[in-house]
Amino acid sequence: MNKNTENRREFMQKMGLASLAAGSGLLSTNSFAQSNSSMSSSGGGRIKIFNGRVLTPYRELPNGCIVVDGGKIVEVSEKNIDVPGALEIDAGGKFISPGFIDLHCHGGGGHSFLDGTVNAFLKAAELHARHGTTSMYPTALSGDKEELYKNLDIYEQANKVNKAGAEFLGVFLEGPYYSMEQRGAQNPKYIRNPDPKEYKEILSRTSVIKRWDSAPEREGSLEFIRYLRSKGVMPSMGHTSAVYDDVMLAFENGVSLATHLYSGMAGVTRRNSFRFPGGVESAFLIEEMNVEVISDGRHLPAPLLKLIYKTKGADRIALVTDSMRAAGLPDGQESILGSLTNGIKVIVEDGVAKLPDRTSFAGSVATTDRLVRTISTIADVPLKDAVRMMSITPANIMGIADRKGSLVPGKDADILIFDNDIQIDKTIIGGNVVYSRV
Ligand SMILES: [Zn+2]
Repeated sequence: MNKNTENRREFMQKMGLASLAAGSGLLSTNSFAQSNSSMSSSGGGRIKIFNGRVLTPYRELPNGCIVVDGGKIVEVSEKNIDVPGALEIDAGGKFISPGFIDLHCHGGGGHSFLDGTVNAFLKAAELHARHGTTSMYPTALSGDKEELYKNLDIYEQANKVNKAGAEFLGVFLEGPYYSMEQRGAQNPKYIRNPDPKEYKEILSRTSVIKRWDSAPEREGSLEFIRYLRSKGVMPSMGHTSAVYDDVMLAFENGVSLATHLYSGMAGVTRRNSFRFPGGVESAFLIEEMNVEVISDGRHLPAPLLKLIYKTKGADRIALVTDSMRAAGLPDGQESILGSLTNGIKVIVEDGVAKLPDRTSFAGSVATTDRLVRTISTIADVPLKDAVRMMSITPANIMGIADRKGSLVPGKDADILIFDNDIQIDKTIIGGNVVYSRV
C-alpha cells in the first residue's frame, strides 16, 4: 500500500466508509472503467464534474474531478480524468462542494410545511434546492395531534414524489414540551410537560420523525429523552429555561444538540446573589454538545458568530436556516408566520421577517447559500469550515454520514457548484441536476 492509498484509506475510515475502503479498487480509475454503469431510477447516469476547486470539505483539491454513476459518487480525483460516455460538467474554475444539509427548516418560496398540501412541501423543497440545500428535515411547530398526523401523512406523500427539490430526510418536531418563558413564536396553548401517553402514541404511529426538541427542565423530560433515544429519534434541547445542572442531566441522558443557540434559551441568570449558567454557557462548556447556528447575519451579530466558532469549532456547529415560508422572497414582501388561516402577518425587511410594527423578528428567511456566505464573510470563518458546518457536521449529528455530507466514493451524489460569492450554479441531488443557473 503506498502512502497515498494509506492516506485515503485513513480518510475513508474517518468518514465511516471502512468497509468500502477495505474493498479497495473504488478509488482507482481502472476499477471504475470496468464497473457496470447501471442506471438507477433514483439517480441519473454517469456524470463527470471537472475543472473546479473540490471541497471534500476537509481539504481543497484545486483542480479536482468528481465522477458520479447511478446516483452515487464513484470517484474523487485530484486531476481531470477520462470517463468515456459521461455527461461532462465543466465547473469553470468554481467550487465543487458537498450539498448543504439543513437540519431545521419550516418552509420557503411562500410555502410552509404546515400548509397541509403536498404542493407546499414540493415548492419549498425546490426553492431551497436552488439555493444549495440538497437535503433537509422539514420542521413542524407545536400544534394539535390531528394536525400533526395529517402533516405526517402529507410529508410521506410529498416524499414519494419529490424529484426536483431538496431530499426529505425525516421530520423534526419543534415542541411542544417547552418552557413557557422561552417559547418564542410557539403557540402558548400547546406548551406543556412531556406526556408519555401522547409521545408514545405518536412514535408508535410513524417512523418519519427523526428528531424531537424539548426543554430539559420540564417534569418528565429525562424519561422523554431516554424514550426518544430508544426509538432512534434524536433528542435536542431548545426553547428552554434550563440551567447548567438541567443541561448536564439532559446530556447524560442523550441530548447532544442545542437548537438555534442563543435563540429560545437563556444565558447567565441571577437568583438572589447567585449566578447560574444557562443553556448557552452549558452548550459551550459541554464539549460534546453540538449546536445549531442561524448565521443569516440578523439573528446573531458577527462577534457572537465568532465566539461560537472559536468555542465549538466546525465539527460541533450545524448551520441552519430555521426559515419560515418567506425564505427566498425579496425584501418588501408581506408574508404570514405560521398557518395560512391562523398565522400572523409579517413583513420581510433587511433579509429577515419582522412583525409589522418592527418590534421583533418573526422568523428567518435565510437559505443555506446565504448562511455559508454570511459566516465566512462577517465572522472570518474559512470557506472550507463554513461548508463543513453546512454538510458533514450536520450529517454526523444526525448519524447519516455514511451516505451524506462529503465528497467521497460511495456516498450519494449530492453536489453543488458555486462561485466565490456562493452563488449556486448547479445543484445535483442523487446524481440528478435539479437546478442550473445558466
Ligand atoms: Zn424553528
